[in-house]
Amino acid sequence: MKLLLHTCCAPCSVYCIDSLRNEGIEPTVYWFNPNIHPYMEYKARRDCLKEYTKSINVEAIFEENYGLREFCKNTINNLNSRCKDYCYPVRLEQTAKYAKENGFDTISTTLLVSPYQNHEALREVADFMAKKYGVEFLYRDFRVGFREGQAKARELGLYMQKYCGCIFSEEIRYYNPNKAIAKLPEGFEFLPVKHLVNIKKERDNKEKYLDLLLEADPSKEMINKYLSDGELFVLTYNDEPACIAVTIKKDNDTIELKNIVTKENYREKGYAKKMIKYLVDNYKTRYNKMIVGTTENNIPFCVKQGFNKYEKTIKNFFVDNYNEEIKDGDLVCTDLIYYSKDLKKK
Ligand code: SF4
Repeated sequence: MKLLLHTCCAPCSVYCIDSLRNEGIEPTVYWFNPNIHPYMEYKARRDCLKEYTKSINVEAIFEENYGLREFCKNTINNLNSRCKDYCYPVRLEQTAKYAKENGFDTISTTLLVSPYQNHEALREVADFMAKKYGVEFLYRDFRVGFREGQAKARELGLYMQKYCGCIFSEEIRYYNPNKAIAKLPEGFEFLPVKHLVNIKKERDNKEKYLDLLLEADPSKEMINKYLSDGELFVLTYNDEPACIAVTIKKDNDTIELKNIVTKENYREKGYAKKMIKYLVDNYKTRYNKMIVGTTENNIPFCVKQGFNKYEKTIKNFFVDNYNEEIKDGDLVCTDLIYYSKDLKKK
């Protein structure tokens, strides 16, 4: 196999190259990332990758293209879908084209290591581009090694970027107008509603929270399954539930966050984040980790809250467990993807 490995940066390449080499596959690294802005950031990532590939003696090709203007032109009208509609296709198409024209028979990408990316969309785009140019796509779920790779990259002193790449992701990372109100304002308090068994016995209370829980999980049947053994936490404002969460014990080591939802008029104010912090403080003396199952669309939120270790994917979970089609924004949900958060980490 002659593999051209599209590579977004040095830290993400660490685990991918190591694991491919462990399989006996020697990749050629291919840098083509017109999505990294501004220029000094582009240069820092590119130069770090140049040095790193040299130090581990892996062949590397650097296709220069600082694409700020072209990128903005093509994404500005549809920022929410910029990753899958422009950023992945433009990089993976160039990779597949270069591979075909230069004697490589297979492509892959280090983007598959990142829990922040839309993994399934990446997979689809890479597969599509490979077929379009008549090469193979080598799929690997490198996410299992994300933390290991990042830890090694830190040890090696590689340049660690603080945001995904484009100028819009930089804005999301650093410009947060809601930051100022992250503290709980007057009138808000956390109400741990003990064991749900109590609520189950109290019909009124149960109904009070069910409507809100249904916004995050549309199946009453599924909710009832975890409500009976779970714990419910409510963040209230003047007695009105603003954000609620349900957790359930998996084993002596692990607590699972089954449902978390913020009422519409309280969204975008950091209350879900507050709730997660509260849960972590509540559970860290009893459990080692907290897990959460999510759809592709919510992975970035989960990772941002510290659920940054990929655990597993339950294929077709939504198809097998729900009678109707489940949608999350534009996404028709199929797989349930689990991430975990280390509760012992300071
Ligand atoms: S957030 Fe990342 S993947 Fe999405 S468009 Fe920006 S650089 Fe590309």
